[in-house]
Formats: sequence, structure tokens, C-alpha cells
Amino acid sequence: MDSFLDVRGLTRRYGGVAALDGCTVDLARGQVTGLIGPNGAGKTTLLNALTGLAKPDAGSVTFEGEDVTGLAAHRMAAKGVVRSFQIVRELGSLTVFETLLIAPPHQAGETLVGALLARPKWWAQERANAAEARRLLERVGLLKLADQPSGMLSGGQKKLLEVARALLMQPKLILLDEPGAGVSPPLREEIIRLVRELKAEGLSFGIVEHDMHLVEEVCDRVHVLAQGRALVSGTFAEATSDPRVVDAYLGVA
Ligand code: ATP
Repeated sequence: MDSFLDVRGLTRRYGGVAALDGCTVDLARGQVTGLIGPNGAGKTTLLNALTGLAKPDAGSVTFEGEDVTGLAAHRMAAKGVVRSFQIVRELGSLTVFETLLIAPPHQAGETLVGALLARPKWWAQERANAAEARRLLERVGLLKLADQPSGMLSGGQKKLLEVARALLMQPKLILLDEPGAGVSPPLREEIIRLVRELKAEGLSFGIVEHDMHLVEEVCDRVHVLAQGRALVSGTFAEATSDPRVVDAYLGVA
């Protein structure tokens, strides 16, 4: 079987709380995989553990057959696993275009200071990057806003800019944390269209999301997490009709 991203028995504890408690899920190549579940189920911690932001206490992560457990964000990005990164709020006075040209966070170690320190290297290739940035802004429908301050973007436009920033890294797998949160319905449809289009071009996605419309529209499969582990995996229809999932959302699992 083609192995893409495999998570086995992943555990991450915070004090007495096991945010992940032996979580086993897989993300398939060329598919959109949803990671859903009630609040506190461990979804964000799973994304953090996959991108170097939370060191697992136990378990393993394999990407394309290679052990990548606990690798730092920039090393995961180099392998093709990129997480959308909310930097727009911090850089609100930069234009949309400039925000995209700041060194990619995954290359710079995830911090604003890291991004600024990495800037000279990044800008050494400025012309090529500028052309690519324009192409990506056009791709996500933000080119007309290129010279606006990033801080002026709506919630949905910020999400689209995050996808453009992820695409700059030429990823194989993009991990999105709640792309539908705080997004108006028309822009949510735009995000759905973009994810489908990118999937058709061969990109894979892992999406943490509470917005069930978005999940149903884009996800080929979902893993329902509860109490730090996968409870049910299957299509959206299979998973959401499973009584264990209904119980988990009602808090009685
Ligand atoms: P939500 O849907 O509400 O975002 P989630 O499924 O993403 O929830 P996580 O944010 O991963 O859940 O949290 C899982 C559990 O781990 C929660 O009980 C949370 O309080 C705890 N937790 C997560 N991160 C930390 C941290 N840095 N320190 C302490 N506890 C944490």
C-alpha cells in the first residue's frame, strides 16, 4: 500500500492531561483528510505534533516511508509537509504582497523574529520570489488586494493568504487549522473551490475543522478524534452516522 503520512500511537501530555493519547491516523496521498471531533479532542495538538510545535512523548510519524517523528517545522517543510501559519495579524501594516514575500515561517523557525532574520537570504532571490508571489496571489484571488495592508483583509481573505504562503513552500501536504473559522459564506465557498482545485493538481491536505459543511464538501475521508485518539475513520457520511461519534459530540463517549 502507498504510505503517505502515518501516525502511530502518538501521545503528547501536558501535565496530567494527555492531549494525544495513542492517536493512530493516516493521511492518504492525493486526498483531503478531515480531522474532526469535539473541543479538546486533540486536533490542534496533532497538527502541532506533525509540524514540530509539540514534541510527542510516545508514538511515531512516518512520511513517505521515512520516520519524521518530532522533526522541527522547517525540516518537515523541507520534506513537503507545510502548515498554514497565522502571521497576518502580526504583520498587519505590511501589504498583502509584502506579507507573502517575508521569509516563509517554516523556513525561519516559526517565529516573527526568525522570519525577519531569514529575510536577507530569502530576498536574495527576490525577483523570482516576487513573480511567484504575484502568481500565487492571483491563484487565490487576492492579486487585486496586493497593495492593501494585510491587516485590512477579512477573515476569509486572511485564510486565502495563508494558503498562498503555504503554496510558496511547494508542499506535498498542506495542513490547515480551521480554514472555515471566521470566514463569510462566499469566501468559504472560495476556499472549498481552491482546495478542490489544488487536490485535482495532486496536492494532499489534512484539515482540522468544526465547520461540517466545509468538511463534507472537501474531505474524502475523516478521522473523528475524541480524548486524544481516533474514534472512527471513514467517509463523512459513515463517520457522522456512527453512534460513537454522536456520543462523543454529546460528551458521553
Ligand atoms: P478545539 O476544537 O477546541 O480547538 P482540539 O481538538 O484542537 O480542540 P487541543 O487544542 O489539541 O484540542 O487540546 C487537547 C487537550 O490538550 C485539551 O484538554 C487542552 O486543554 C490540552 N492542551 C493543549 N495544548 C496545551 C498546552 N499547551 N498546555 C496545556 N494543555 C494543553
